[in-house]
Amino acid sequence: MSVEKQILTLIEQLRRNRFNAVLAESAQDAKDKILAAIPVQASVGVANSVTVRQIGILEALKDRGNTLIDPIAIGYGLVEFDEETHNKTLRDSINADVFLSGTNAVTEDGKLVNIDGLGNRVVGIIWGLGQSIVIVGRNKIVKDVDAAINRIKNIVTPTFAKRRQLALPCAKAGTCVDCQIAERACNITVILERKPALQKLTVVLVDEDLGLGWDTEWSDERIDDIRYKYEQFDRPYSSGFRRYHKEHAGH
Ligand code: SF4
Repeated sequence: MSVEKQILTLIEQLRRNRFNAVLAESAQDAKDKILAAIPVQASVGVANSVTVRQIGILEALKDRGNTLIDPIAIGYGLVEFDEETHNKTLRDSINADVFLSGTNAVTEDGKLVNIDGLGNRVVGIIWGLGQSIVIVGRNKIVKDVDAAINRIKNIVTPTFAKRRQLALPCAKAGTCVDCQIAERACNITVILERKPALQKLTVVLVDEDLGLGWDTEWSDERIDDIRYKYEQFDRPYSSGFRRYHKEHAGH
């Protein structure tokens, strides 16, 4: 199936699963459509998502006056780390008027699949009486739930862990070893089969590669391009955030 046909079919499947599915022809088109969907006075919570950062939506929202609640800005050290501010920002982000996130994968039959360590991202997407917007690059499309979980555990998480220099066994092994350490990144697996009942959930499917995710069968050129673009927007965690995470994981 061509990529174009795959995207159009997926839009239909997502709508069948009651998601508000929107096609964006490019990252710029995605940004324009999301800006139009968010009221200027709305507060916007942000997940830890390179896809969200890649399309430039955060700067555009901030420039026009939306209040951004962005816990990862603290994790990245863009703002000095302190535990109280970090925890409050996490709580506030999932209760914002609108929650912006990427997703680890979307299946051809229109299910969103995510694996989290902390859970704020999946809670923000799912809960509750507000609006969430999930931005998905075409490279995140996988055949089914098994393929999604396999990709997240054997490609996405090891790559993420290695790049962030996290003390996870998959960072060294390059593949999942089903670790049992306290800092494990794979604590929560959430499969959205249909739209949560009361949440307004929009999936913006972008005809462009965004975020982290690929099939090993793709050309080296495409995979290298996804990696390169990802690395332009990813930052290491600050020492304060790493220390905090290490102290609290597993408690
Ligand atoms: S379970 Fe552990 S080893 Fe496997 S991908 Fe997750 S963090 Fe890495």
